[in-house]
Amino acid sequence: MRKNIVAGNWKMNLNRVEGIALVEEVLAKLPTDNNTHIIFAPAFVYLHKVAKMCANTSKVVAAAQDCSSNEKGAFTGEVSASMLASCSARYVVLGHSERRANFTETNALLKTKVAQAFENDLKVIFCCGESLAQRENGDHFDWIKSQISESLFHLSADEFKNIVIAYEPIWAIGTGVTASTDQAQEIHAFIRDLLVEKYGEEAAESTSILYGGSCKPSNAKELFSSQDIDGGLIGGASLKADDFLAITQSF
Ligand code: PEP
Repeated sequence: MRKNIVAGNWKMNLNRVEGIALVEEVLAKLPTDNNTHIIFAPAFVYLHKVAKMCANTSKVVAAAQDCSSNEKGAFTGEVSASMLASCSARYVVLGHSERRANFTETNALLKTKVAQAFENDLKVIFCCGESLAQRENGDHFDWIKSQISESLFHLSADEFKNIVIAYEPIWAIGTGVTASTDQAQEIHAFIRDLLVEKYGEEAAESTSILYGGSCKPSNAKELFSSQDIDGGLIGGASLKADDFLAITQSF
């Protein structure tokens, strides 16, 4: 019932030429019977180009890596959700741990970014996840619950249909250390239970929950075979066409 999704978060990597070459190669090699929803999240500057390149391929779309919490105006350097929508983005990634840590993004701020995204018909890939210290202290469940509830639980069940959750343990991002399948599944099941409690069984069962954190071709199959893992948000391995493609075909 829910979508299998693999999203590539390029972060601040790949110039325009390299990004275009990557998308070209992925689209050229994508199996004709591809069933996975694939999302490229490039830098703002060539988001429009990437979105246009995907326009004729079913189930492949573009996402932004962030958006402003403001609608428009004197916010030099910021990019609004309406600008992203006008560049044919379909999703925006919000609350990535790098933005939370480096740009002090709080749950309250992210709530306002979600509002901007929804005002402009963008779907949201909402990131959550704990640090190693939080996991070691046993605080990870409460932390993840507060990230999700404080930024998203004001939404109606209907609005929540436009949310994809990405669970990304900070200690696994870019470190080469992947959460074990059991660790990831435990948190995904916990998140789904939160959604059942808040929105009911049907809404919870229709929400895609992605895993992110050193996901690669060698571990994607095992991770994605778990009951509550519906795909991945991929950093490093999304920068190589063959690796990214292999992950998209790991269901
Ligand atoms: C990410 O930054 O969203 C991520 C999952 O990175 P990596 O795959 O490189 O760990």
